[in-house]
Amino acid sequence: MIQLHDKQFEIFIEQAIIENRIKELALSISKDYSGKCPIFLAILNGSFLFAAELMKSVSIECEITFLRVSSYHSTTSSGKITEVLGLKEDITGRDVIVLEDIVDTGLTMAEIKKQLLAKNPKSLEIASLFQKPEALKTPIDIRYIGFELENKFVLGYGLDYDGLGRNLPDLYVLHEK
Ligand code: 5GP
Repeated sequence: MIQLHDKQFEIFIEQAIIENRIKELALSISKDYSGKCPIFLAILNGSFLFAAELMKSVSIECEITFLRVSSYHSTTSSGKITEVLGLKEDITGRDVIVLEDIVDTGLTMAEIKKQLLAKNPKSLEIASLFQKPEALKTPIDIRYIGFELENKFVLGYGLDYDGLGRNLPDLYVLHEK
Protein backbone atom coordinates (compact mmCIF):
# COMPACT_ATOMS: atom_id res chain seq x y z
CA MET A 1 0.00 0.00 0.00
CA ILE A 2 1.26 3.51 -0.79
CA GLN A 3 0.01 6.93 0.19
CA LEU A 4 -0.02 9.87 -2.25
CA HIS A 5 -1.48 13.17 -1.06
CA ASP A 6 -4.56 12.20 0.95
CA LYS A 7 -5.27 8.80 -0.61
CA GLN A 8 -4.04 5.22 -0.37
CA PHE A 9 -3.40 3.02 -3.37
CA GLU A 10 -2.70 -0.68 -3.77
CA ILE A 11 -0.85 -2.56 -6.50
CA PHE A 12 -3.18 -3.64 -9.26
CA ILE A 13 -1.12 -4.71 -12.31
CA GLU A 14 2.59 -5.43 -12.06
CA GLN A 15 5.16 -3.92 -14.38
CA ALA A 16 6.14 -7.25 -15.97
CA ILE A 17 2.54 -7.97 -16.93
CA ILE A 18 2.06 -4.46 -18.33
CA GLU A 19 5.25 -4.66 -20.34
CA ASN A 20 4.47 -8.12 -21.73
CA ARG A 21 1.15 -6.83 -22.95
CA ILE A 22 2.81 -3.77 -24.51
CA LYS A 23 5.15 -6.12 -26.39
CA GLU A 24 2.12 -7.96 -27.76
CA LEU A 25 0.58 -4.69 -28.93
CA ALA A 26 3.89 -3.73 -30.58
CA LEU A 27 3.98 -7.07 -32.42
CA SER A 28 0.41 -6.59 -33.68
CA ILE A 29 1.19 -3.06 -34.83
CA SER A 30 4.40 -4.19 -36.54
CA LYS A 31 2.43 -6.88 -38.39
CA ASP A 32 -0.52 -4.65 -39.30
CA TYR A 33 1.71 -1.81 -40.55
CA SER A 34 4.32 -3.93 -42.29
CA GLY A 35 5.56 -2.07 -45.40
CA LYS A 36 4.18 1.24 -44.10
CA CYS A 37 5.90 3.90 -42.05
CA PRO A 38 3.38 4.97 -39.40
CA ILE A 39 3.76 8.05 -37.28
CA PHE A 40 2.95 7.61 -33.59
CA LEU A 41 1.44 10.62 -31.84
CA ALA A 42 1.91 10.10 -28.11
CA ILE A 43 -0.32 12.21 -25.88
CA LEU A 44 1.60 13.80 -22.99
CA ASN A 45 2.00 13.53 -20.10
CA GLY A 46 0.47 10.17 -19.28
CA SER A 47 1.60 8.09 -22.25
CA PHE A 48 5.35 8.65 -21.96
CA LEU A 49 6.18 5.27 -20.40
CA PHE A 50 3.74 3.37 -22.64
CA ALA A 51 5.19 5.08 -25.71
CA ALA A 52 8.79 4.37 -24.67
CA GLU A 53 8.12 0.71 -23.93
CA LEU A 54 6.08 0.21 -27.11
CA MET A 55 8.73 1.79 -29.33
CA LYS A 56 11.38 -0.66 -28.12
CA SER A 57 9.37 -3.53 -29.60
CA VAL A 58 8.04 -1.97 -32.79
CA SER A 59 10.18 -3.58 -35.47
CA ILE A 60 9.09 -1.64 -38.57
CA GLU A 61 10.17 1.79 -39.79
CA CYS A 62 8.21 4.44 -37.92
CA GLU A 63 8.28 7.94 -36.49
CA ILE A 64 7.12 9.27 -33.16
CA THR A 65 6.22 12.70 -31.90
CA PHE A 66 4.59 13.97 -28.72
CA LEU A 67 1.48 16.09 -28.34
CA ARG A 68 -0.26 17.83 -25.51
CA VAL A 69 -3.92 18.42 -25.14
CA SER A 70 -5.25 21.32 -23.18
CA SER A 71 -8.66 20.91 -21.62
CA TYR A 72 -10.53 23.90 -20.36
CA HIS A 73 -14.08 25.01 -19.80
CA SER A 74 -15.29 27.55 -22.25
CA THR A 75 -16.71 30.74 -20.75
CA THR A 76 -19.57 30.72 -23.23
CA SER A 77 -20.70 27.11 -22.87
CA SER A 78 -20.59 24.45 -20.22
CA GLY A 79 -18.81 22.07 -22.58
CA LYS A 80 -15.17 21.09 -22.18
CA ILE A 81 -12.94 22.17 -25.01
CA THR A 82 -9.92 20.11 -25.89
CA GLU A 83 -7.22 21.51 -28.09
CA VAL A 84 -4.41 19.51 -29.60
CA LEU A 85 -1.11 21.36 -29.16
CA GLY A 86 2.37 20.89 -30.53
CA LEU A 87 1.81 19.01 -33.79
CA LYS A 88 4.50 20.36 -36.10
CA GLU A 89 4.68 17.33 -38.38
CA ASP A 90 2.51 17.21 -41.48
CA ILE A 91 0.30 14.15 -41.10
CA THR A 92 -1.50 14.59 -44.43
CA GLY A 93 -1.51 11.22 -46.18
CA ARG A 94 0.23 9.50 -43.25
CA ASP A 95 -0.74 6.40 -41.29
CA VAL A 96 -1.24 7.81 -37.81
CA ILE A 97 -1.42 5.87 -34.55
CA VAL A 98 -2.38 7.89 -31.46
CA LEU A 99 -0.90 6.62 -28.20
CA GLU A 100 -2.92 7.34 -25.06
CA ASP A 101 -2.51 6.22 -21.46
CA ILE A 102 -6.15 5.64 -20.62
CA VAL A 103 -9.53 6.17 -22.23
CA ASP A 104 -12.16 6.92 -19.60
CA THR A 105 -15.27 8.72 -20.92
CA GLY A 106 -13.66 8.81 -24.39
CA LEU A 107 -14.51 12.50 -24.76
CA THR A 108 -10.87 13.61 -24.91
CA MET A 109 -9.99 10.99 -27.49
CA ALA A 110 -13.07 11.74 -29.60
CA GLU A 111 -12.02 15.39 -29.79
CA ILE A 112 -8.37 14.55 -30.53
CA LYS A 113 -9.52 12.22 -33.27
CA LYS A 114 -11.77 14.87 -34.81
CA GLN A 115 -8.98 17.45 -34.88
CA LEU A 116 -6.45 15.02 -36.34
CA LEU A 117 -8.86 13.73 -39.00
CA ALA A 118 -9.29 17.32 -40.17
CA LYS A 119 -5.62 17.19 -41.20
CA ASN A 120 -6.40 14.39 -43.69
CA PRO A 121 -4.20 11.52 -42.57
CA LYS A 122 -4.32 8.38 -44.74
CA SER A 123 -5.46 6.39 -41.71
CA LEU A 124 -5.90 7.03 -38.02
CA GLU A 125 -6.01 4.40 -35.28
CA ILE A 126 -5.83 4.57 -31.51
CA ALA A 127 -3.70 2.53 -29.12
CA SER A 128 -4.54 2.96 -25.45
CA LEU A 129 -2.74 1.16 -22.66
CA PHE A 130 -5.85 1.14 -20.47
CA GLN A 131 -9.55 1.55 -21.03
CA LYS A 132 -12.55 1.67 -18.71
CA PRO A 133 -15.37 0.35 -20.94
CA GLU A 134 -18.09 1.12 -18.38
CA ALA A 135 -17.11 4.80 -18.25
CA LEU A 136 -17.46 5.43 -22.01
CA LYS A 137 -19.78 8.28 -22.87
CA THR A 138 -19.21 8.36 -26.60
CA PRO A 139 -18.61 5.42 -28.94
CA ILE A 140 -14.95 5.26 -29.81
CA ASP A 141 -13.12 2.67 -31.83
CA ILE A 142 -9.85 1.78 -30.13
CA ARG A 143 -7.88 -0.59 -32.33
CA TYR A 144 -5.23 -1.57 -29.77
CA ILE A 145 -6.14 -1.88 -26.09
CA GLY A 146 -3.70 -3.06 -23.43
CA PHE A 147 -6.05 -3.74 -20.53
CA GLU A 148 -9.74 -3.19 -19.89
CA LEU A 149 -10.24 -1.96 -16.33
CA GLU A 150 -13.13 -1.58 -13.95
CA ASN A 151 -14.36 1.94 -13.45
CA LYS A 152 -11.90 2.82 -10.65
CA PHE A 153 -9.19 5.47 -10.39
CA VAL A 154 -5.72 4.14 -11.21
CA LEU A 155 -2.23 5.59 -11.20
CA GLY A 156 1.36 4.65 -11.89
CA TYR A 157 3.08 3.62 -15.10
CA GLY A 158 2.82 7.19 -16.37
CA LEU A 159 -0.55 8.08 -14.80
CA ASP A 160 -0.73 10.55 -11.94
CA TYR A 161 -2.84 11.57 -9.02
CA ASP A 162 -2.59 15.34 -8.83
CA GLY A 163 0.92 15.33 -10.25
CA LEU A 164 2.31 12.42 -8.25
CA GLY A 165 2.81 8.76 -9.06
CA ARG A 166 3.82 8.86 -12.72
CA ASN A 167 7.16 7.26 -11.85
CA LEU A 168 5.66 4.18 -10.19
CA PRO A 169 6.56 1.16 -12.35
CA ASP A 170 3.39 -0.80 -11.50
CA LEU A 171 -0.26 0.22 -11.89
CA TYR A 172 -2.04 1.04 -8.61
CA VAL A 173 -5.73 1.35 -7.83
CA LEU A 174 -7.43 3.52 -5.25
CA HIS A 175 -7.85 1.62 -1.98
CA GLU A 176 -11.43 1.64 -0.81
CA LYS A 177 -11.75 1.36 2.95
P1 5GP B 1 -11.61 10.95 -20.88
O1 5GP B 1 -11.80 12.15 -21.74
O2 5GP B 1 -11.53 9.65 -21.66
O3 5GP B 1 -12.65 10.87 -19.81
O4 5GP B 1 -10.29 11.19 -20.06
C1 5GP B 1 -9.06 10.75 -20.47
C2 5GP B 1 -7.98 11.32 -19.57
O5 5GP B 1 -8.40 11.39 -18.20
C3 5GP B 1 -6.77 10.40 -19.58
O6 5GP B 1 -5.88 10.74 -20.61
C4 5GP B 1 -6.19 10.65 -18.20
O7 5GP B 1 -5.34 11.76 -18.23
C5 5GP B 1 -7.38 10.97 -17.33
N1 5GP B 1 -7.85 9.78 -16.59
C6 5GP B 1 -8.98 9.08 -16.80
N2 5GP B 1 -9.11 8.06 -15.93
C7 5GP B 1 -8.00 8.10 -15.15
C8 5GP B 1 -7.53 7.29 -14.04
O8 5GP B 1 -8.14 6.31 -13.59
N3 5GP B 1 -6.35 7.66 -13.49
C9 5GP B 1 -5.62 8.73 -13.94
N4 5GP B 1 -4.47 8.97 -13.31
N5 5GP B 1 -6.03 9.51 -14.96
C10 5GP B 1 -7.20 9.19 -15.57
